[in-house]
This record gives sequence, structure tokens and C-alpha cells, in this order.
Amino acid sequence: MTEYSLTEALHLRERHSEEVEQHRLELLRKHLAHAARAPYYKKLFEKNNIRPEELSTLDDLQAIPFTDRQELDGHGDLFQTVPDEQIVDLSLTSGTTGPPVKVPYTTGDLQRLAFNETMAFWGAGIRPDDTCLIAVTLDRCFIAGLAYYNGLVQLGARAIRSGPGQPARQWELISMLRPTVIVGVPTFLLQVAKWGVDHGHDPSRAGIRLLVTIGEPIRRPDFSLTPLGQTLTDAWKCSIRGSYGATELETGLTECGAEKGGHIHPELSIVEIIDDQGNVLPDGRRGEMVFTPLGVEGFPLIRFKTGDITRKYTEECSCGWKTARIGPIEGRVSQRLKVKGTTIYPETIFHVLQEIRQIDASYIEVRSAYDLSDEIRVVVGSRASITEKEIGALLQARLRVRPEVSILDTQEVHNVMFKEGGRKPKRFFDLRRGEEI
Ligand SMILES: [Zn+2]
Repeated sequence: MTEYSLTEALHLRERHSEEVEQHRLELLRKHLAHAARAPYYKKLFEKNNIRPEELSTLDDLQAIPFTDRQELDGHGDLFQTVPDEQIVDLSLTSGTTGPPVKVPYTTGDLQRLAFNETMAFWGAGIRPDDTCLIAVTLDRCFIAGLAYYNGLVQLGARAIRSGPGQPARQWELISMLRPTVIVGVPTFLLQVAKWGVDHGHDPSRAGIRLLVTIGEPIRRPDFSLTPLGQTLTDAWKCSIRGSYGATELETGLTECGAEKGGHIHPELSIVEIIDDQGNVLPDGRRGEMVFTPLGVEGFPLIRFKTGDITRKYTEECSCGWKTARIGPIEGRVSQRLKVKGTTIYPETIFHVLQEIRQIDASYIEVRSAYDLSDEIRVVVGSRASITEKEIGALLQARLRVRPEVSILDTQEVHNVMFKEGGRKPKRFFDLRRGEEI
């Protein structure tokens, strides 16, 4: 089991990346050797003649085939490397992109993840004198809330295990325990702020200096705030940092104070950005993020295709850390839309819709058209005076294509978005893949 110290970790982030490469190469060799104990990777290595000890640079990793999400579905046990006796936590992936996958964590994995969050929170500017309200799910087999909690405790800050929901209860805790930081899903943090305003609490005077968000993008690709991100910082009058993570990656990234992407933890992960053909892309180019989490014991993955679209930046960050950063998530590979030769991600459409203040709620339906183009229908809920034509024109100005727009009663739109329950509202319906409304 690896021991992690904050001092050493900070030192590693402040050194030049070339000096750190050798250390990372050593960690990668170890990770591959360990992963080879999993039946899936044992077979893959044999088939492709891969010997971890022969890796001479980090780029040699590119000789190993990618692992797809589909390979985990129903075959999770083929990725487990330790006997069940060493597993101490069974988590499940959120299931938004397929059936939930069991992810087994060892004691070492939980410590590794706690360290991941300690460094992520440290980079975000959280210190031992902070008190943090954790307004995300801590149970229901989700790992993120637990990771945040353990990371904060390890950092020496105070954690308040509030969980999501019940704005009234959140305000009780804010008034009584005086948190300085809130961790939560953006739309929920906005709901809490609105509830506060309606019930005599002023969010801008609540003593919150920082919001750490998960699950919905708060920044555009150029790092400017999305309308949702802007509304949140205006409401709480504080800074905001987005974070990214996935249960199967056992790793999370959080933006630093420079707000120019989330730093990759050099001892915990290797991140590549690839094009549709699987070629590794240079800095700043948009592509799919491929993740190799280092040092995982129970469920080690290699070159896992996340399905998330983003960019990587390696130039030095103004925060002082020299490790590479990952930009905001720009979309999902599976949700990529092709309209008359133009590539669009639903997120871009949602960003435009968020800017139209007359819109209360929205979702997108997509169907295949006869010419291999996708047909997009934007359904919005609005009680204010705006026409379908006006919304269509605003979308066209930004997207360069004009989707069909339908305005319905807000409650009707909400009913569709929340039909399935779950952590987040469903806003994208892919009828190309047989999904139903
Ligand atoms: Zn930075």
C-alpha cells in the first residue's frame, strides 16, 4: 500500500514535469504489472505481447489497446485483481451511460482516493481552517460523496455530511454550523440560493467563500463561466471551482485557483486525449479523454475511454503547479450530433438555452434523419412571452444550424426530465439509440 504525504505531493506538483516523468514511468510499470493479474488484462497483454517491465517512456503506453466501457458491462469481475477478502467497499457506477458496474475498492484504494481529494481540494484553495458542507449523496453506493468526505478529513478541514436535497435543512446547517465552502451539484446549489432568498436568508452574506461543483459544467471551453456558473457565483458572491470524476476511474480532478482546468494528479493518473481514430492529440485539441488511473489495487483500468470530450493543457499554470490540466467537459462522444456536416454537442445547446431568461426548463430529442444527419428538437418550458421562432433564431446564431423548437408548459417539461428519478434531471433523449421519451 502506498503512503501519501501532502508535503511530498506538493513538491511533486511544483517540480518541472520532465523531472517527474521518471517517477511516473515507474508508477506506470507497477500499475501495468498489477493490472496483469486481472483476467482481462492478462489475456490482453499476452495477445499483444506487452511486458510492463519493458516500457521505456510514458508514450509506450500507447501500444496498449484501449479499454471500452462496453467491456466492463457485465464483465466487471474480469477486471478485479485481488480476492474478495481484500475488498472493503462495493460501489456502483452511476449508470447514466449503461447498466451500473460494480467497482470494488480495497483499503488502499480508499486511502488513495482520499489523497486524490485532499490534493484536489488543496489545489482548489481549501485549507484546514475551512468548514465544508457536503451537499452531495454520501450513500446509495456512490463513491464521490465519500471521497470528498475522506479527502476533507485527511486535509484537516471540517466536513458537514449534509447530503443533497431539502434546501430548508441546508439553510439550517448553514446558519448553525457556518460553513465556508459548499460542495454540490450546480442546479441544486442554485435551488438552495433561491430558497434562501424566498425565506429571508441572503446567500451572499452566508459566509460562503467557495463552491465546489460536480456533475454539470460551470465553464465553457474557453474557461469563461456558463450562465449557470455565473448565476451561482452572483447568487452566493463567491468563487466557484468545477470538478470531474468517475467511479470506475477512482480519480477526480478539481479546478485550481487559476480556474483554467483541473490538474492531473501526477502520481495518480495518466490522461490522454484521442481523436476518432484513436490517435493521441496534441495540447489544446478537442477529443475523447482516455484515463489510466495509477496505483489502483482492486479494479485497475488501463487506457479507459471515458466517452467525455475535453482538451488537455500542459503549459505551466499560474497557480504554481506544473502538472497538466484538463479543460471543461464539452460533451459526450455518444451524444455527438451531426447536423448537415456540423458537429454539435448537446451541452453547447444547453449553454445557449441557459442564457435565455424566459426559459424555465428544457430538454433535447434527437432522431436520425434520412441523410445521415441528426434531427434535433429542442423542447422548452416557459411561462413568459417568447416564441419558438425567437428561440430558433437565437440557437441558429450560435450553432449555425437551426433545430426545431417546441414550447410546452414548464410542468410538462419537468415531468419528462424527472420521469426516471435519479440524481440529475434527464435532458438528452437519444431516439437514434432507441431511447424513449
Ligand atoms: Zn493551477
